[in-house]
Amino acid sequence: MALITQILSNAAAVAKGMSVTFKEMLQPSVTEDYPDAPPVFQERYRGVHVLQRDENGLEKCVGCFLCAAACPSNCIYIEAAENTEEGRISGGERYASVYNIDYSRCIFCGYCVEACPTDAITHGHDFEIASYNTSTLVYRKEQMLTPLPADFKPLVVAEQEASHGH
Ligand code: SF4
Ligand code: SF4
Repeated sequence: MALITQILSNAAAVAKGMSVTFKEMLQPSVTEDYPDAPPVFQERYRGVHVLQRDENGLEKCVGCFLCAAACPSNCIYIEAAENTEEGRISGGERYASVYNIDYSRCIFCGYCVEACPTDAITHGHDFEIASYNTSTLVYRKEQMLTPLPADFKPLVVAEQEASHGH
């Protein structure tokens, strides 16, 4: 009796699995035309990192090293420096004067993104970084930093202009 129950249970499991297979067979197939057309990424795709700016155009990274500490591949290298009144780079006390990620070591785990207290580092969708020369795989801050739009105005300036009727 136990054997029959086992056989029926296995048959039910196979039927359930095959029903999923057959259902998928009836769905339209999705073909990516890459490299002839850009691939479609899900929002959560973890590509080359992007270093973000705040609404005033300042770098969000405050050079706290938490991302480097969280990185299991030890591939983030940071040098931090103090902001000054004349030269403010980030909104915090310090900023990253050097921020490198070695993509020959990065496993795109996202731990750095999770660890960052200011949402300064995120994953972008760039993935075409293969190279025969590993030195090109060390990305520097300038390569990852979000560029400022040509017509960018810091939020504080835009608000001041709005209040003066510009
Ligand atoms: S994604 Fe993972 S391996 Fe890559 S830099 Fe971030 S923490 Fe390190
Ligand atoms: S990216 Fe984030 S966690 Fe890493 S140093 Fe900058 S502020 Fe700190």
